[in-house]
Amino acid sequence: MNSSIRYDNCDVAIIGAGPAGLAAAIALKKKGIERVLVLDREGEAGGIPRHCGHPPFGIVEYARVMSGPSYAKRLVKTAQQAGVDIRLQISVTNLGQNGSLSLATPAGTIDLKAKRVLIATGVRETPRAERLVSGGRVLGIATTGSLQSMVYLKNMIPFRNPIIVGTEIVSFSALLTCKKAGIKTIAMLEENKRPTVPWPIHHSTRLLGVPLLLNTQIINIIGSKRVEAVQILDRRQKIREIICDGIIFSGKFTPESTLIRMSHLSIDPETNSPIIDNFGRCSDPAYYAAGNLLQPLNMAVNCWREGRKTADWIAKDLNDAP
Ligand SMILES: Cc1cc2nc3c(=O)[nH]c(=O)nc-3n(C[C@H](O)[C@H](O)[C@H](O)COP(=O)(O)OP(=O)(O)OC[C@H]3O[C@@H](n4cnc5c(N)ncnc54)[C@H](O)[C@@H]3O)c2cc1C
Repeated sequence: MNSSIRYDNCDVAIIGAGPAGLAAAIALKKKGIERVLVLDREGEAGGIPRHCGHPPFGIVEYARVMSGPSYAKRLVKTAQQAGVDIRLQISVTNLGQNGSLSLATPAGTIDLKAKRVLIATGVRETPRAERLVSGGRVLGIATTGSLQSMVYLKNMIPFRNPIIVGTEIVSFSALLTCKKAGIKTIAMLEENKRPTVPWPIHHSTRLLGVPLLLNTQIINIIGSKRVEAVQILDRRQKIREIICDGIIFSGKFTPESTLIRMSHLSIDPETNSPIIDNFGRCSDPAYYAAGNLLQPLNMAVNCWREGRKTADWIAKDLNDAP
């Protein structure tokens, strides 16, 4: 798919081939916008659903219950059938004035000028480095995203007996992924007094035989080459050790807004998302934003809807332009 890119002007460049970016691209093509280019740093299009090996996806979009990977494939196929140009293994590294982009490609750095740019870069979980947990840099530490990409996309088993830190919906997705891969979760840790997920989801830990430790914090990682144990501060404020060979730091989603922070676009310091107007337009009117980047963490269908809605505004903007 990456053979020859025409790096001259394009009508709309979309950064991110997840549900928001692909839905916008399909809608733009249907509205008659000619040159719509979707760029993604990954080797496969589809965004996060590619490695969510569970339902429910696609109920509104395709009137059926699909797993994440089937949904991602279907979205990509719909986009290709609509004539969207999807380019992979391309990281956008700079957002310049009026839609001038710098791209890092396997062939080197390239500049692209687009009449409009839609930023749909999604979210990421907060990794260990940003959680300030002490201990060495050892193997066996993952986020839900990296675990699922190892298990579902690379057929790898990164550990056998991990603990999961967090009790958001995504933490339970990690729990199910472990179960599916034959990985035995040792415990689930939550620093607050109550689990983050609504009742009764957290009871699934009991069904799966996984202890749920509330009011408990991970304070230190022990191991020379890989994780051998963790020290926790339990609900009685006592320090104790749990033997495990892996840690999944789940949730605490934050917008994937590195590009925006480095650019001239205005950003909301509290949410870390770009500031947009009622039409999804950023402080530089050549740029728009949509999807999870604006409201972590939403269901795929909402990002898909938002992508389509933002495409309407972009198409109108282009058609009204002198
Ligand atoms: C573990 C988990 C389970 C989930 N389960 C469900 C579920 O069951 N049902 C449901 O409806 N939703 C679910 N979701 C939510 C759903 O996956 C998201 O709402 C949806 O993927 C968000 O779409 P998006 O297009 O905004 O971003 P994403 O899907 O995150 O796509 C963003 C894309 O941008 C690319 N990108 C980022 N930066 C750059 C850059 N600089 N250059 C080029 N490309 C870049 C990324 O590679 C990525 O492909 C789940 C999410 C997670 C994490």
